[in-house]
Amino acid sequence: MLKYLLICILALIVWWAWRAPRRRERAVPPRNVEGDENMVACARCGVYLPASEALPGPRGTYFCSSQHREG
Ligand SMILES: [Zn+2]
Repeated sequence: MLKYLLICILALIVWWAWRAPRRRERAVPPRNVEGDENMVACARCGVYLPASEALPGPRGTYFCSSQHREG
């Protein structure tokens, strides 16, 4: 009985050791690539652009240009 338990534990360890590096690999892929930035839509024309390049408008809206924000 103890033998089966040992094999079970060993299998679990092997499975975990085999899985752990893969999980880490999957977590590593670059998350802060420029294209991965938070995208927002212009409230006037609906075009998508990075939040850092968008012009913030009232009530949490964003605009692609000052013309769209003021017009
Ligand atoms: Zn626009």
